[in-house]
Amino acid sequence: MNPRFVEWWLEHPSLLGMPFHFWTGVLAILGAFVGSFLNVCIHRMPLGESVVSPPSHCPRCGYRIPFSLNIPVVTWLWLRGRCRSCREPIPARYLVVEALTSGAFVLAWLGFGHDDPAMALALCALFASFIVATFIDFEHFIIPDEITLGGTLAGFVLSAVAPGLHGTASMPAALRRSAVGIAVGFGAVYGVVRLGKLLFGREKIALPAGARVVFHEEGVRMPDRDVPFGDIFYRASDTIRLRGRRVELADRCYPEADVSLTQGELRVGGDVMDPATEPYLSAEAQELVLPREAMGFGDVKFMSAIGAFLGWQATVFTLGFASMVGAVVGVTLIGIGRREWSSRLPFGPYLALGAMAWVFGGARWWGRMFAG
Ligand SMILES: [Zn+2]
Repeated sequence: MNPRFVEWWLEHPSLLGMPFHFWTGVLAILGAFVGSFLNVCIHRMPLGESVVSPPSHCPRCGYRIPFSLNIPVVTWLWLRGRCRSCREPIPARYLVVEALTSGAFVLAWLGFGHDDPAMALALCALFASFIVATFIDFEHFIIPDEITLGGTLAGFVLSAVAPGLHGTASMPAALRRSAVGIAVGFGAVYGVVRLGKLLFGREKIALPAGARVVFHEEGVRMPDRDVPFGDIFYRASDTIRLRGRRVELADRCYPEADVSLTQGELRVGGDVMDPATEPYLSAEAQELVLPREAMGFGDVKFMSAIGAFLGWQATVFTLGFASMVGAVVGVTLIGIGRREWSSRLPFGPYLALGAMAWVFGGARWWGRMFAG
């Protein structure tokens, strides 16, 4: 046997004697299959559906690609993005997520597999959760608990298996750092969320005493401004809320009631109405809550997961990095006259990007800056 191979094998017993790039190939394929599962998560988690059953099928005709033919990326390309049975287009997102997951797995392996295969695999799990969080957040402005709370737990457990995540070889030290990361990640972002409500001022709007708020056909009128619904509602879940006194509708009146309005539903007290048939409402209120906050509680839990995997330094770095990129994007959008787009962008993807930057360079930079 080639003595150099023996030497290499002794140095890399965990690679089971296969060449490094054999595993790169395995991870590329595994990533594509995981990506295909992530597509199911992205589609079903926000709807509260099970990600295991029923097996994926065409939403129009119910056709299910047989397991033997369900090869990620390849199947989509082979079917040219259409259902095999009814020719309904399959969104390009399916292809993108599979390719992206495959790429993320390869990146994690090439970056860390040589020195610490366990850490590389743990990073694969983290990146998979980033992909799900990003795609769901863009579409629904939420990050499901399966990802944030599940990710926090997974990060803690994987810290024991792959202490290299926290730059140590000791399991107890890694678990300690993971726990601190969870606490700091949660605390730091929670603080920013509270602060953001002061800075951005868009979440709660305090109104002068005795002010009346009017919902009319085009928007919401407050004493000092009139905000069109088009600026407020982007998602079905976006809600305007207020606690109103003397709530008046076209044909009835409530002495005091909680009022909430979405694109499809007006609730006054316990009554549910169709906003299309109740185009007018007037109420006295002390404050009005509009949707569209810079960060929500989902981001707080998401940051806990990042801290669980990568430690508290990573959460501070991630938050700073994400805020900077977010500011640059925001200023750019204002510069090109697309200010309204920035309020449609969720913050979760910026956090995922910040954590990626930490893994691929930020941690080294931090070490040089602060650990001498
Ligand atoms: Zn079909």
